[in-house]
Amino acid sequence: MDFQQASRRVDELRRQISEYSRLYYEEDSPAIEDDEFDALTRELRQLEEEYPQLVTPDSYTQRVQGAVSNQFAPVRHEVPLESLQDVFSYEELRDFDRRVRETVEEPVYVVEPKIDGLSIALEYVDGRFVRGATRGDGQTGEDVTHNLRTIRSIPQTLTRPVPRIIVRGEVYMPRESFAALVERQEQAGERPFKNPRNAAAGSLRQKDAAVTRTRNLDVFIFNLQLLEGETVSSHAESLEFMKALGFSIIPFYSVHTSIDDVIAEVERIGEKRRSLSFDIDGAVVKVNSFSQREQLGSTAKFPKWASAYKYPPEEKQTTLLDVEINVGRTGVLTPTGVFEPVTLAGTTVSRATLHNEDFIAEKGLAIGDTVVLRKAGDIIPEVVRVAAHSPGALPYRMPHRCPSCGSEAVREEGEAALRCNNPECPAQRIRNLIHFASRDAMDIEGLGPAMIEQLVSAGLIRNAYDLYGLQRDEVVALDRLGEKSADNLLSAIEKSKSADLFRVIFALGIRHVGQKAAKLLADHFGSMEAVMQASLEEIGAIDGFGQIMAESVVRFFALPQSRHFVQQLRQAGVNMQRLGEPEGEGGEADARFAGMTFVLTGTLPTLKRSEAAALIERYGGKTSSSVSKKTAIVLAGEEAGSKLTKAQQLGIRIVNEEEFLAMLK
Ligand code: NAD
Repeated sequence: MDFQQASRRVDELRRQISEYSRLYYEEDSPAIEDDEFDALTRELRQLEEEYPQLVTPDSYTQRVQGAVSNQFAPVRHEVPLESLQDVFSYEELRDFDRRVRETVEEPVYVVEPKIDGLSIALEYVDGRFVRGATRGDGQTGEDVTHNLRTIRSIPQTLTRPVPRIIVRGEVYMPRESFAALVERQEQAGERPFKNPRNAAAGSLRQKDAAVTRTRNLDVFIFNLQLLEGETVSSHAESLEFMKALGFSIIPFYSVHTSIDDVIAEVERIGEKRRSLSFDIDGAVVKVNSFSQREQLGSTAKFPKWASAYKYPPEEKQTTLLDVEINVGRTGVLTPTGVFEPVTLAGTTVSRATLHNEDFIAEKGLAIGDTVVLRKAGDIIPEVVRVAAHSPGALPYRMPHRCPSCGSEAVREEGEAALRCNNPECPAQRIRNLIHFASRDAMDIEGLGPAMIEQLVSAGLIRNAYDLYGLQRDEVVALDRLGEKSADNLLSAIEKSKSADLFRVIFALGIRHVGQKAAKLLADHFGSMEAVMQASLEEIGAIDGFGQIMAESVVRFFALPQSRHFVQQLRQAGVNMQRLGEPEGEGGEADARFAGMTFVLTGTLPTLKRSEAAALIERYGGKTSSSVSKKTAIVLAGEEAGSKLTKAQQLGIRIVNEEEFLAMLK
């Protein structure tokens, strides 16, 4: 590779690394496996070593990566939270030992498990916990004190009031809690966390500490960052010191004087890693003496007195017996490989996702092949490659028909997934219903996945619009559902009729249209009708609306099934209009019609009666079917009859639609 090529490759690697890091640190949702990521950073490091002129101060190799979200107050770390130099072979550990010995004499090493969680710093003043922060970019972290207070193994008060101490540790999610969380997320139709590390980061970086509390996080303290009023001179001593203060310190650390012993211990930890109750991704080797650490110093990114050995993921061979196709909420056909069961990283594995048809083609998979499996992040099984093709087997081809409803499954340009676009597809129905009722969509309290399954299996509903036709006696008759719960459910469903337009748009589950995009559509067009009639250009021109999103909206409403679906909701009385100001985040509800009773009569020019009623209720008013002295306003349209006459007789205020809408402005 010449300089030009190396320079181009370095640019490309930095671009990829930066995007993967963003997903990993900011979104807590990695797109690739750690070892694949590590391979990219290793390649970058090698190229930079070969061409030092390509090194820039902001390169991944030169600074600590991490997220500092403006969701939290920033915390400047008094002592930076450095990263660690990773190594992937024992030879590299020996190199590390040689480098250490060039600077210091007879180093003593401490070996510890490398916990796969996220780094935090905890500060105590006079023995009281005052502040906790994430690592962030190593210099500045995020203030997550409230969330850290929910972790039981973080002491609120130390066993004695040392004037000031800052400790560093790793917050992690025990495997058992992770498995339970994933199950809960799957049942709720949410996207589950990929591994305990991301789950720990996502759970700690929550706005609401009550959510963090439910996640059962734990912590291990592994470093003394700062100590005032007392002194300790080595790492091992500091660990015992912190333990005596009440901290839960890093388990099974050990002290060694030779690199051979260090390697033997790294190996031992590797052997027991599967049987631990938490994830580790390596072992850390650290120089014990604080004065030697000082002599060795640090680079901008990591200390020269420590090295992190990363364990390779365990791999096993097995046979691909079959491929099953499942249909998700958005109609994506996902292939799952069924294998001859093998034990991998401590559990029996017989299934793994094959992602999509490109993945299958790229690996060249055929039924009967011998394949290599491993567990991504030690948890989720995946196919690494084909070890041997089964003689005469033809490459597996995904069906282009939905296995559930038989509709043609299509693959849109630029997409990897095959998708069934039939909104009536039974496999998608339950998942669609869950989405429809969810908090960010129609927000129907009490209508969770279990309830939906019950209603569907009792044959009471097939589609979201059927919810609005549910009869009280049918619901009461459901298994173990009391009258009270049934009434609550029905009134929550009723209430959802007056949900704002953006919620209804979001609830439709249009691909690429999240709640934010739904709000943009609702604000821009004001009514469902207008959104449905909008052209690609009109939608694409909305600020914040990308081309792909716009195309998706137009494509969705072009489908007769979608139009039918909206029509059914409309007929059921679901509001299809933008309702004044959005329910501002945390803002007060607008109750301008509080205490007012409206009577509707005649045909309104654009609003359906149900829509007008929804608007009235949305603003705190009531509707009644007969005019009396208590009536505040009569909303009258064409061919209004006796109600209008009565209102005139009683001298009640009468408005037409235009005036009514003006009242909402
Ligand atoms: P690192 O996670 O490899 O090592 C440093 C961290 O180890 C420290 O911050 C500390 O919190 C932790 N640690 C755990 N136990 C420890 C102990 N006993 N002593 C000292 N430290 C301990 O380095 P990094 O810079 O934070 O991140 C790189 C890691 O993140 C790599 O594993 C990489 O694969 C992963 N990553 C993955 C992706 C992806 O897309 N998959 C993207 C970015 C980063």
